Amino acid sequence: MIHNTDFLLRSLNLRKEDIVDYVLDLNNNFCLITLAQIHHTCPYCHSSCRSKGYYTKSCHISMDVITTLIVKLRIKRLMCTKCHKTFASHTPVFPRQSKLSFHTIYKIMHLLKQPNETFASVGNIVGIPESTVIRIFDRYCSSSPVIFPSVICIDEFYTKNNDYHSKYACIFYDFLNRKIIDILPDRKKTYLMQYLSKIDSRILDTVEYISIDMYKPYLDISKHFFRHAKVAVDAFHVIQQLQQCIYGIRNRILKHYLPNTHEYYLLKQWHSLLIERNEFLFTLPGKYNKRFKMILNRQQLLDKLLNIHTDLRGAYTVYHLYMDFNQYNY
Ligand SMILES: [Zn+2]
Repeated sequence: MIHNTDFLLRSLNLRKEDIVDYVLDLNNNFCLITLAQIHHTCPYCHSSCRSKGYYTKSCHISMDVITTLIVKLRIKRLMCTKCHKTFASHTPVFPRQSKLSFHTIYKIMHLLKQPNETFASVGNIVGIPESTVIRIFDRYCSSSPVIFPSVICIDEFYTKNNDYHSKYACIFYDFLNRKIIDILPDRKKTYLMQYLSKIDSRILDTVEYISIDMYKPYLDISKHFFRHAKVAVDAFHVIQQLQQCIYGIRNRILKHYLPNTHEYYLLKQWHSLLIERNEFLFTLPGKYNKRFKMILNRQQLLDKLLNIHTDLRGAYTVYHLYMDFNQYNY
């Protein structure tokens, strides 16, 4: 029995003083452990805490090749006496915000070393989905050092990865060779700083240009870690921003006109002409316009639209200057 208990505690990453009480039922492969309270102060305001009972978390421990023990852990729930926030007592059994114990994670990583095992087969052995095995592998397997080229892009994409509480994964991209450099599960500044601080600064110093969207942490980390690089906002986001500005100006001007006016009609019905890219606009044939009771082509309608306000003409000019600059690659 003592041997079993020692093995169990070792597997759970626990010391004897970490537990208050335990019940081990080997006939039913079941164990109930009550954990001692470890956190004594509030993690938010560092005030004292009081107990708010226990909650239960389960994990599986392989005792031998065929026996798996179901372990239920009773973990203290605490409440701050000052800010009244509740939180769980820290436990060495699980990594923070993880449902899988260190024991299970170690088992997964150990199994993945076997050449005949796949993500799916390990998932079957441990009893978890293949996607979770892949996430564990990505998180705990250290890969070869990353090499950064001279021009990189930093961007994000939506992901359902729950491990990092981030809706977006971050991608580093080699702009000239069109290759992915690395994909990170989190795009938050603290995570990116942690990641980049592990890379040799001599590698980061070789980067000359960085293209980002307008997400501020990308700018912050670029300035901090890529000391010799020039940072640029990518064209897609510049265009998006310019279009938003044009429509903002159009909406502001629209408020000054009543719905029965020509100006209101043009701003409401023909605003898409402001961002239309068509160098042959003026050569297009006209159509009879009921509002103006005459034949008008799109260029003539655009001219009427731009004559409404100088701000609109100014915004239109800036937008198309930028679009020309991109298109013709001066
Ligand atoms: Zn507190």
